[in-house]
Amino acid sequence: MPLPANDTLGRPVLLGRQVLEIRPSACPLDCPDACSLAVSVEGDRIVSIDGDHRNPLTAGFICSKVRNFARHAQCDERLSDPLVRTGAKGSGDFAKVSWDVALDLVATRLRDIAKRHGGEAIVPLCYGGSNGALTQDGVDARMFRRLGASRLARTVCAAPSGSAAMGLYGKMPGIALADYEHSALTVLWGCNPSASGIHLVPPLQRARARGAKLIVIDPRRTPLARHADVHLALRPGTDLVVALALARWLFDHGHADLEFLERHATGVEAFRERAQAWTLDRAAAVAEVDIGDLERVAQLYAEASPAAIRCGWGPERNRNGGSAIAAILALPAVAGKFGVLGGGYTMSNGRALALDGEASIAQSEPPTREINMNQVGRALAVGRAGGVFGLFVYNCNPLATLPDQNAVRRGLARTDLFTIVFDQVMTDTARFADVVLPATTFLEHDELRSSYGAMTVQRSRPVVAPFGQSRPNYTVFAQLCERLGLARPDDPTSSDALVAAIVDHSAWPPGAAAALMADDLTQVPAGRVQFVDVFARTPDQKINLFPEALDAEAGGNLYRYQDDPGTPRHPLVLVSPALARQVSSTFGQLDRRPAALHMNPSDAASRGLVDGGRIRVFNELGEVHCSVVLDDDLRPGVVCLPKGLWSHRTQNGATANALCSDALADLGGGATFNDARVQVEAVP
Ligand code: SF4
Repeated sequence: MPLPANDTLGRPVLLGRQVLEIRPSACPLDCPDACSLAVSVEGDRIVSIDGDHRNPLTAGFICSKVRNFARHAQCDERLSDPLVRTGAKGSGDFAKVSWDVALDLVATRLRDIAKRHGGEAIVPLCYGGSNGALTQDGVDARMFRRLGASRLARTVCAAPSGSAAMGLYGKMPGIALADYEHSALTVLWGCNPSASGIHLVPPLQRARARGAKLIVIDPRRTPLARHADVHLALRPGTDLVVALALARWLFDHGHADLEFLERHATGVEAFRERAQAWTLDRAAAVAEVDIGDLERVAQLYAEASPAAIRCGWGPERNRNGGSAIAAILALPAVAGKFGVLGGGYTMSNGRALALDGEASIAQSEPPTREINMNQVGRALAVGRAGGVFGLFVYNCNPLATLPDQNAVRRGLARTDLFTIVFDQVMTDTARFADVVLPATTFLEHDELRSSYGAMTVQRSRPVVAPFGQSRPNYTVFAQLCERLGLARPDDPTSSDALVAAIVDHSAWPPGAAAALMADDLTQVPAGRVQFVDVFARTPDQKINLFPEALDAEAGGNLYRYQDDPGTPRHPLVLVSPALARQVSSTFGQLDRRPAALHMNPSDAASRGLVDGGRIRVFNELGEVHCSVVLDDDLRPGVVCLPKGLWSHRTQNGATANALCSDALADLGGGATFNDARVQVEAVP
């Protein structure tokens, strides 16, 4: 279908013999672009979804994942009714019940668990999913806080990078994605916009058309790496030493902007001292890259202006992840790349228009224990002191997304664990639930979404009726609060009241709140320049290149490289990058194709493996049975299984996370998915 113009929104459109209405919406999926959408509906049937132009970054196009969202919203696995378990955990045997029966059962069991074991025996387990601010950290948080439940450290993604960006810059907003067209050089460091965050690609293409340079740092030859001036296919986990070596080289070769550092930075000498350990030669040897390529990266970065670094979340998912991100983000400060449009860096732009949801929660956070979500498998272990007896999973599919998958599965299988899963579809995790509650999608409820890339906040309204009996999170948690005796008369519960509470308390630029209320969209426009229009949000407004608190958190090892965890038994690095067809695990039910491990042909040959052959990839934590694809886009020594796969994609039901330990990164309690080391062998 041709893209609808903005002025068609809300009006009936005749298409052939169909009378469609094109309704506005906004994508709340875990993606930096936060597209504004035009949804064509016929009655309550979604006919098509396209991008529109209200969010200028969307520019009328969206990814295929959301263009095909109707497949998800109306799929066979979609949950239409509340269910209670009738068979063994994991069997997927359930019976339909009414909402009243399901909610009464949930409230009774939660009350009993809190009475017998204390509120901390209940754990809310949620993360992002396809949700915004109305369906996470609002009424749900109110209920769990009033129950005295354990708190969840949401660390599975962006925790090390968040710590680093906060420590160095106070999470200063970065270069607007649209402004990359002004950059003379872009460094894509550990990100693949061709698969996720696709709206960075057009500005990069426009810049390239004008002669801009492109460097891609990624162990895989991504689509953009094919056309880059330099592709640095480093060994995963070595981003830190590459960034430190570049910093040292800039200092040693007179390319450090000492005047800028003097005015705008602290901790320079301490940072420089830790970088001193890394020459380009030494870093190239450890990262297993060509020294000539690394020298070219240094030279190009030193000489180009405006020069931008788009830092992704790939470099954070290892033992050195927080230090790596900090060192990468230090480079534009050292090289003096700020102060010009298209110069500087972008990490998360979430603080450009951050939402403050505390007033909507209407309950302060109790000092209950905190469970790191990367170690949920450990927390659910049988007989563990201070055990977990109630698990409430929503906006999240932990069996597909959390480390140490076998430990998570063992925990979910416990018969003394009461598990509620509140989701849109029957996920792998939901099969282990005692009660399953059907959730609406963002097209069926009110939502509010702050973007961490596009610097927008958008409110979206329902465009179709809820599927079956599904309900929004804010409705269900309010109903549970009532049943648990936790509701108070002045609690905000309606979507309008929740939005008002959030907007009233969010510290936004003048006019932003009024724009949202009037137009359902507010934005920080592109064109703002770091260290001209926006400054570090640290207490002294200076960049802190060596935050003492981060060094303490890292055990005195900030910027100190920890060696590769590979062993002769498990020498291969397993990486699990994002898929172009899924957003993390969301939409995983739609893809029924068998998954394959990707492997460089030289690694396959040395193991006697052939393209398409059956293999097992394994380590001391588990094994995955699937086929192998020979792929010379992947550097030798590295194998790849995508993240977020569901169990039906492999022959034994295990996915990449069965091979990932629950060890934590140096900062932020982050996951170390890319520290998985494995061996691969043929299966007869
Ligand atoms: S997932 Fe990203 S690119 Fe796709 S529609 Fe949503 S915001 Fe846009």
